[in-house]
Amino acid sequence: MPLLVQKFGGTSVADSDKILAAARRAIQAHARGEQVLVVVSARGHTTDELIALAKEITETPPAREMDMLLATGEQVSVALMAMAIESLGVPAISFTGAQIGLVTDSFHTKARIRNISTERMVQALNEGKVVIVAGFQGVDEHYNITTLGRGGSDTTAVALAAVLGADGCEIYTDVDGVYTTDPRTVPEARKIDRISYDEMLELASLGAGVMHSRSIEFAKKYGVPIHVRSSFSDAPGTWIVAESEARRLGVAVTGAALAKDEARITILGAPDRPGVVHAIFRTIAAANIVVDMIVQNVSTGGTAEVSFTVAKGDLPETLRAAELAARAIGAADVTFDAEVAKLSIVGLGMRTHTGVATTLFEALAAAGVNIQMITTSEIKISVLVDRASAVPALRAVHRAFLLDQLAGSSAPFSPARCGAGPGPMKLVPLVEMDSSANGSRPQGMEDLVIAGVELDESQARVSLFHVPDRPGYAARVFRSIADAGVFVDMIVQNVGIAGDSVLSFTVPRDAADRAAAAVRAAGLGEVSVEPALAKLSVIGVGMRTHTGVATRMFAALAERDINVNLINTSEVRINVGTDITRGRDGLGCLERAFAL
Ligand code: ADP
Ligand code: ASP
Ligand code: MG
Repeated sequence: MPLLVQKFGGTSVADSDKILAAARRAIQAHARGEQVLVVVSARGHTTDELIALAKEITETPPAREMDMLLATGEQVSVALMAMAIESLGVPAISFTGAQIGLVTDSFHTKARIRNISTERMVQALNEGKVVIVAGFQGVDEHYNITTLGRGGSDTTAVALAAVLGADGCEIYTDVDGVYTTDPRTVPEARKIDRISYDEMLELASLGAGVMHSRSIEFAKKYGVPIHVRSSFSDAPGTWIVAESEARRLGVAVTGAALAKDEARITILGAPDRPGVVHAIFRTIAAANIVVDMIVQNVSTGGTAEVSFTVAKGDLPETLRAAELAARAIGAADVTFDAEVAKLSIVGLGMRTHTGVATTLFEALAAAGVNIQMITTSEIKISVLVDRASAVPALRAVHRAFLLDQLAGSSAPFSPARCGAGPGPMKLVPLVEMDSSANGSRPQGMEDLVIAGVELDESQARVSLFHVPDRPGYAARVFRSIADAGVFVDMIVQNVGIAGDSVLSFTVPRDAADRAAAAVRAAGLGEVSVEPALAKLSVIGVGMRTHTGVATRMFAALAERDINVNLINTSEVRINVGTDITRGRDGLGCLERAFAL
């Protein structure tokens, strides 16, 4: 019998009418002969209210007690939903996370799922009941209640769909799908019909709040097709599916996202020698802080600047760790900016379309927005901008990529689950080092998976020095490169010091001189070319949210005395640039470090 998981978000169960409407949807599926498992969030703004209540008592509530409190929101919802379904004549039973044996680690308020026991749910489903499970919560091995982090009910739903081998997972919410950007910020945003796991993973982790990014990690690992749709209409929503089903020809950029509350930290004058980046990020990871954009580019005069961003709320703790690290490596200073936002564009088509960066930078230049930092991956470009200009910048970029004009196809679509186990990639589970204890976390469902490591020796690096700290420079550089017909891969720009920064990018080796000549001809400053570099990549799922992976990569390279001189990170890979002569050696040591 087919099994469907339906998840209802907070607004979808905000009052009794909405709960009854959600109950009718579950009953419809049940009447079609499907087994139905419903995951619900806390009603309306319950979670926010509970957080505010705790803060009225104390500014620093213990994380364990926070979880005890927050989990009550979902417990109310499951009971009401079961009552609603029963009242409409269909047998139903509700469970908390603990009652279905959803076991997590002990990182309160951001716990990760280790294991889920399916027996009790399967038994109830086989008895013909609609099973209702509280999202967002679990228990650790000592039966302490834990929660998965804000928005975590999506992750509960997709994880349950994965372990139960469900045929699909419907996410009911207050928008009718995934849009090209948040429609609340940009009303001209359009609904996307199909999007690949990787694109959604990037968008979600770059600020698109519609899905919890960890839910997409599960979906990709286990091949669960997700249908994001409106609770309040029957319109088809957005399918989040494998790349083969989502690829749209001729489209370079699928969506844009804004992470408004970021903070930037820069370690100035870090010595340019092996082990330095490792020393920095080991210290940050030990404080269990998720680092976002990591940017390091070529050194000048034997030292380099290493910048990264974190959620604004993590700034005080991060600064403490960064200062410790700076002292340990003998860096000159630590600076920060708490008023920044990260704007990103995402699309599978970027792998093959040229000129995407040019369009982005030109749109920002035309809007008078200064770019403070740039980092790219194969399918995304992120720029750091001043928070005050973030929303106008997003609007300008959205328009520049014609995202307000996407033609929506209304073709019906219903993908099959892509196999029972992990999806098409070869996944090697990696037990992440537990930074708070001396052991390692036991292998769990949500552990990081590494798909492989790669070496690319085909590229050269072009660096521009004395980049002025004002709008329009990057636009001119990449216009000249695009006009020269050169495909750019990685782009890295660090924040300027005293209005002066370095911009580096990689291009195919045979195009390096052409690219440099184009920049020189445009009178854009001092250019240097490194005719060959080795790009080493670790590829996997959820690379950013697992703080340990970058640390392990940097540690392995440091141990082999391999200097890292360019870093680019994303949800699905971490790329570093090293000296061309050390590429093979680096590949071998990464293979060993990740047990491949
Ligand atoms: P739920 O409570 O159902 O989980 P959320 O508030 O978590 O709902 O997510 C839905 C909201 O996500 C929408 O109301 C919308 O404002 C926001 N959002 C952000 N980015 C996007 C996007 N790209 N597409 C659709 N919605 C988005
Ligand atoms: N209720 C939780 C929150 O508001 C979980 C969720 O809604 O997904 O974050
Ligand atoms: Mg949500």
